[in-house]
Amino acid sequence: MTLLFNSCPKCKGTLQQHSDGYGNYLQCISCSLIVDVPERKGRITAKVLHMQKVA
Ligand SMILES: [Zn+2]
Repeated sequence: MTLLFNSCPKCKGTLQQHSDGYGNYLQCISCSLIVDVPERKGRITAKVLHMQKVA
């Protein structure tokens, strides 16, 4: 299980990585925001950081 602390683009909460039949995604454990992510871990961090800058 992967946790990304302080990475939610909405509330800066903790994102938890999930997998289902459609692929990987992240869900915030604080506000339940769902973020779609590419499969590789390095790309997950890069995309979340990019979204924080945009928000
Ligand atoms: Zn959140």
